[in-house]
Amino acid sequence: MAGRPPEEGPDTAALRHADSLVLIHTGDGKGKTSAAMGMAVRAIARGWRVLVVQFIKSGAWRAGEHAVLGGLGAEWYVGGDGFSWDSEDLDRSAERAVDAWNRVREAIRAGEHELVVLDEITYAINWGWIDGEEVARTIGERPAHVSIVATGRDAPAHLLAVADTVTEMTNVKHAFDAGIAAKRGIDF
Ligand code: ATP
Ligand code: MG
Repeated sequence: MAGRPPEEGPDTAALRHADSLVLIHTGDGKGKTSAAMGMAVRAIARGWRVLVVQFIKSGAWRAGEHAVLGGLGAEWYVGGDGFSWDSEDLDRSAERAVDAWNRVREAIRAGEHELVVLDEITYAINWGWIDGEEVARTIGERPAHVSIVATGRDAPAHLLAVADTVTEMTNVKHAFDAGIAAKRGIDF
């Protein structure tokens, strides 16, 4: 079907301005973390203070984004110590996720950053490591200038409830399903 470019834009005069926004990237398709990292780049470009917290992945796995965004001034907490299924010690992963949450909760309350990325936080909630209601409450009560982006599959309902924008990445096709391993430069 041939389309036509729209002749009228949306009526932006009636729109309100928000001091900050809460975004969630969820779903089974690729792109949740990389879209959050793209937002971090935008935020840094505007002079925002950025904090990235990784709840699951190891530092080595995410060295690409960490090195570049860290070099641009983003602060970084690595809570996770690897995928859960290759973690030697799940209790240790849980402890590190709790520790990361305690630190980021205080950073959010203190209003030290204009953007906080909570990468893979949904797993830490869904596996019972951290309390999702407390996460939702902390986000809901954040200082007005602090925007939040949270990523991970199966975002729980109380998190969705405090979000302004929720995107579900759909897995239409994934190279992994054709037996292709995660690729440096594309996946990490
Ligand atoms: P990315 O970090 O590439 O934006 P993501 O955050 O959406 O991906 P995660 O569920 O966090 O995806 O998975 C992390 C790793 O698994 C990445 O290397 C990613 O490319 C890969 N991946 C993402 N979606 C799928 C999928 N549907 N099947 C297999 N591997 C996937
Ligand atoms: Mg991810």
